Amino acid sequence: MTTILLTHPRCVEHDPGSHHPESPDRLRAVLKALEAKEFDDLERREAPIANLETIKYVHDSDYVDMALESVPSSGQVHLDPDTALSPASGEAALRAAGAACAAVDAVMNGEADNAFCAVRPPGHHAEHDRAMGFCLFNNVAIAAEYARHAHGLERVAVVDFDVHHGNGTQHSFENDANLFFASSHQSPFYPGSGGETETGSANNIVNVELPAGSGSDVFRAGWTNRILPELKAFNPELIIISAGFDAHARDPLAQINLTDEDYSWVTGKLLAVAQGCCQGRVISSLEGGYDLIALASSAAAHVRALSGRT
Ligand SMILES: [Zn+2]
Repeated sequence: MTTILLTHPRCVEHDPGSHHPESPDRLRAVLKALEAKEFDDLERREAPIANLETIKYVHDSDYVDMALESVPSSGQVHLDPDTALSPASGEAALRAAGAACAAVDAVMNGEADNAFCAVRPPGHHAEHDRAMGFCLFNNVAIAAEYARHAHGLERVAVVDFDVHHGNGTQHSFENDANLFFASSHQSPFYPGSGGETETGSANNIVNVELPAGSGSDVFRAGWTNRILPELKAFNPELIIISAGFDAHARDPLAQINLTDEDYSWVTGKLLAVAQGCCQGRVISSLEGGYDLIALASSAAAHVRALSGRT
């Protein structure tokens, strides 16, 4: 299988400040892991800058303009208590969203089976009109809307295995029966949303709550019994993954105990669903993951599975 890797140096340079968990070292660690010989056959592409019109399919126009105008020429500016901008952040955010759209183009045009976007800032907490939880623009939601507008798709699914609930994605999708969102996440936990009673206007939202201390068994049962059957039933034309690796046992921000093998496993299951419903079309975008060792090894496990070498 052909897998494309999209990234850009500006995504490393985005710097929310010293001691911030969402650090440039995160992406450095992921990219270093993907430099290993076994990944020589990844097709590496530069993440392009997203069109503002595309970002505004998901986000309030005034918010997008304000966020980009807030980018400082030095130091940091905070958009919310957790989300800060540095001089590189505007371009980084535009390239993070642009990577996801370019990934959609590549798999829709048959240039690759799937794609992984190694980008920062992450996106799944970003709401329609505000930054939140380290996230500026909702990269996966933007990619879903882009797939509909640019490629005429009707049904697009986002699945999210980050340890935090993808509140921004859910809010963007919950009243649209042609969009599907499923998430497994620690609960109760930040950001507070993602209860299993939140099902969307067309039963198009699936939330699996993982109690603190859960491990592989609870995670895999949630995906096997709830998310994967609902995803298959939705029959998407494209599957987009919010790939956060902060449910790993080593992660310092959360209390879920996944291993690298769990990320291989869930990736393989998603590819199998995609083979059945949408010619294997999958794109994936990096979200969280705050232990550098676990982030590197679990992102590598994810990309290894995407490229068919589990
Ligand atoms: Zn997270």
